[in-house]
Amino acid sequence: MLVVLLLAAAIWGLAAAFGIRREIRWQAIGLLYVAVLALLVVLPEGAALRGWLGWSVGAWLVLGGAGLAVWGYAQLLGRLRMRARSAVQGVEAPAQMGTPALGAAALREAEVERYSRHLILREVGGQGQRRLRNAHVLVVGAGGIGSPALLYLAAAGVGRITLVDDDRVDLSNLQRQVIHRTEDIGMSKVASAARAIHALNAGVAVTPVDRRLDDTLAAELIPRVDLVLDGSDGFATRALVNRAAVEAGVPLLSASVGQWEGQISLFDPARGAPCLACLFPVEPAAGLAPTCAEGGVAGPLPGVLGTMMALETLKELTGAGMGLRGRLLLYDGLYGETRMIAVHRRPGCPVCGGI
Ligand SMILES: [Zn+2]
Repeated sequence: MLVVLLLAAAIWGLAAAFGIRREIRWQAIGLLYVAVLALLVVLPEGAALRGWLGWSVGAWLVLGGAGLAVWGYAQLLGRLRMRARSAVQGVEAPAQMGTPALGAAALREAEVERYSRHLILREVGGQGQRRLRNAHVLVVGAGGIGSPALLYLAAAGVGRITLVDDDRVDLSNLQRQVIHRTEDIGMSKVASAARAIHALNAGVAVTPVDRRLDDTLAAELIPRVDLVLDGSDGFATRALVNRAAVEAGVPLLSASVGQWEGQISLFDPARGAPCLACLFPVEPAAGLAPTCAEGGVAGPLPGVLGTMMALETLKELTGAGMGLRGRLLLYDGLYGETRMIAVHRRPGCPVCGGI
């Protein structure tokens, strides 16, 4: 047996020394293997050469099978690596991404590693990850709902995030607005959130807008984005965002929370779904829908809704699964219950009736 292995090594070494390609060398080893098997079958029992060949036919077959399995596994790994690499080819690195010391190739390697759990998801894959990278979303409000939504969007690799809020971080915010830290108290919420996003994923381009959203600003920002996420607190702002999103034909993911309950839907009249005003045409009477400051809110509740918002964003941008167009998801945190309600466009809606 040792003789055969030495012969194989000699063939491999000599062929390598003469610069013969690796595949040809493997073929030569394969021929030697077949010759050994053939001799063991043909030679009579007791032949002197059988001693040199060593082992039985069965043992050689086991060795060959093991070699084949290792070769197959290596081929599979190589293909998976190639697939992962080709999946991120064409991903344009924005100016803010990475450090100048990292070349484009190194950046792609880093992206493959960072988003590997997305790349192996059938519904996301390389194409979905590129869509996330090329997407631009507007997030209204860096509060309880905006905090987890922003963190997950950044972690998921959404390429551009514009963030609007004119609030400062207050001590009473920290019970639920997890993107801000105690040392950020007094700082503008958009600056504090932008810092956290950059620390999590420097590949995301954040544009913080430290202003109160009004009609002019909404009309300026919304037409530039692929999706609007509204987690703001208060009916007036939510109605304003809805009007501007309908006007621009941009889908609006809207979530709200109060005390122990939350709701979320994707408003998109341009694609058959209702707008916010179809469901809530007029501002609720004072006291019926208290803000968090007025009625209180369980800290993790906006976390649940904000995280759902990030997940729905991922689905909307990649085309995965079934989104919340025409469906309103209600979550009752106090009893741990969810309910899904079909919602429809309202004929004569003052906001989307003209579409
Ligand atoms: Zn409407």
